[in-house]
Amino acid sequence: MPERFPASLQQKIEDRLRYYEDLGIRLFYTDRGRGGAIFVAPEPIASASSPAPVIEETVLPKSTPKPAPAKVVPVAAHPPLVVPPSGPSLFESADKLKDETLLKIREDLGECTRCKLQKGRNKIVFGDGNPKAQLVFVGEAPGADEDAQGLPFVGRAGKLLTQMIEAMGLQRSEVYICNVVKCRPPENRAPEPDEVAACSPFLIRQIDSIHPKVIVCLGATAAKTILNTTRGISQFRGEWLEWRGHKLMATYHPAYLLRNPPAKADVWKDLQKVMAELGLQLPKKSKS
Ligand code: SF4
Repeated sequence: MPERFPASLQQKIEDRLRYYEDLGIRLFYTDRGRGGAIFVAPEPIASASSPAPVIEETVLPKSTPKPAPAKVVPVAAHPPLVVPPSGPSLFESADKLKDETLLKIREDLGECTRCKLQKGRNKIVFGDGNPKAQLVFVGEAPGADEDAQGLPFVGRAGKLLTQMIEAMGLQRSEVYICNVVKCRPPENRAPEPDEVAACSPFLIRQIDSIHPKVIVCLGATAAKTILNTTRGISQFRGEWLEWRGHKLMATYHPAYLLRNPPAKADVWKDLQKVMAELGLQLPKKSKS
């Protein structure tokens, strides 16, 4: 049978499909009435009938339903990651690694060439925020804006993340934000397993150093990497999990919310659970 696509195009399509899958999108359809354009649809969300999304780009939620008591589900304590050639073992205890400083970890990372992502990067995006934060957000990988500035979540999705953080009554500088891999994958594809294996030891050291009360994984790649699971994010999104002594919750990536605004309602429910865990109240609206 003749090949339908050239190999290079097929690879690009596969990369793009994997990227959509990481965002929770598994349904594609064509609209014959519109020139055969391909559309993507998110996988069904259990609470799709929930009220209008609460996290709007400029509007904060009006009311806060009390979240249910936290249910903690234990998961594997240590993901099977590759130990870096230098620096402490990943499998040293979290207690020992928490004595490290972020500065020392950044120094160990250096001008890293441990994986092939170093070829296309402009700047390493190490992480940003409070080194003693109670709350750490972990995303997938830097995009174009992050690569140019060397800071995580500074593009459109980053702006939405900032609004989510502020909706929780926090400032962005009060939390810590980082990614599973610290260099931008070409054409924003999902990081590959060897890249995740090379880079994620530094993520683990960062988290152990910060020792946050809560970790929020943004999107499937971050959650699957940290939790070492192949389950789809919709199967455990919004549940309390436990990882290396930290409470962890996975929720949708802000980039997914930009494409699927109705999913903001689900994310807001998740963030309210995080707020309850951190003892945060909704900020009071000023009277105009
Ligand atoms: S992605 Fe991580 S391991 Fe790979 S080159 Fe960048 S910093 Fe190094």
